[in-house]
Amino acid sequence: MTARIIDGNAIAAQVRHEVATGVTALLAAGVDRPGLAVVLVGDDPASHVYVANKVRQTEAVGMRSFRHDLPAAVSERDLLDLIARLNADDAVHGILVQFPLPAHIDTRRVVAAIDPDKDVDGFNPLNVGRVASGIMDVLTPCTPLGVMRLIRSVHDDIAGLGALVVGASNVVGRPMARLLLEAQCTVSIAHVRTTDLAARCRQADILVVATGVPGLIRGADIKPGATVIDVGITRTEQPSGKSRLVGDVRFEEAVEVAGAITPVPGGVGPMTIACLLANTLSAARAAAAMAMERRVHEDVPDATLPGRARADVSGGRSSTTTISI
Ligand code: NAD
Repeated sequence: MTARIIDGNAIAAQVRHEVATGVTALLAAGVDRPGLAVVLVGDDPASHVYVANKVRQTEAVGMRSFRHDLPAAVSERDLLDLIARLNADDAVHGILVQFPLPAHIDTRRVVAAIDPDKDVDGFNPLNVGRVASGIMDVLTPCTPLGVMRLIRSVHDDIAGLGALVVGASNVVGRPMARLLLEAQCTVSIAHVRTTDLAARCRQADILVVATGVPGLIRGADIKPGATVIDVGITRTEQPSGKSRLVGDVRFEEAVEVAGAITPVPGGVGPMTIACLLANTLSAARAAAAMAMERRVHEDVPDATLPGRARADVSGGRSSTTTISI
């Protein structure tokens, strides 16, 4: 059996197209252009590449991009002050702080300072708690959101399937498990201290691996016909001196056993930024809906928003359904 390859590049392009269409609809409804602020602290070369990509893709879907580059020695106070200004800025609908931050800055304090309604990374404790308590109409971490879209490209309905998430980080593994649970899978989480990992993997209809351990999962660990999502990305040096990106799953073996599988690169990677854009659109819609509600409550005649604006922004943070993630 040779698995179907899940084309993350193509599905991410589809998500970006849906976001661009959503932006056009908002503008046609007289709503402000959605804006994403990206804050980069320091000179980490990989972070610079990620941020440049985010800026480029944000502009490509018709959104405004606000980039803030801060020196590595910036104080936590100054960073928090910038976040406070972005929270108060109506042109900014999403705020993303690129990690990792320098050691003298408390990442948790920074995450908690971002307005939950602009928290397009979905890491603010309020949003984490909302997702954990089954409230899905909230900003949700981008990589798990992207993985759900990839899984749904294979399965119409995953209710009742057994899912194993290998990796329990706050960025990927835990929110991933919550989304799968919400989709009514029977979910287990494995981590570095889990015993008998291979046997647990062999039970899973859906196997999501996010450990950063290259080649951890072998073909023999996979249930025949399973859907395998490889989130891991590690840059490895080749004997030729060139570097290559590898995943946590041994692709050449796994592709012979799985029913569907993501490659690395070209699987989960492109979905993360696409879902960041989807979250920003969602935040902009919710902000527009809230502004409209305020006007209704203040009983101010709505001169700027034509009637159909209501339809276009109604449902608040509805992009999770309209962009069908
Ligand atoms: P992390 O280091 O925060 O967490 C790793 C998790 O894997 C931990 O829960 C740990 O217990 C578990 N783990 C480690 N070794 C294990 C083992 N031998 N067996 C079972 N579990 C083990 O990492 P993270 O931030 O969750 O990222 C994981 C991987 O996903 C990395 O390769 C990262 O680069 C990649 N990633 C990709 C994207 C993307 O957009 N594609 C986004 C985020 C992370």
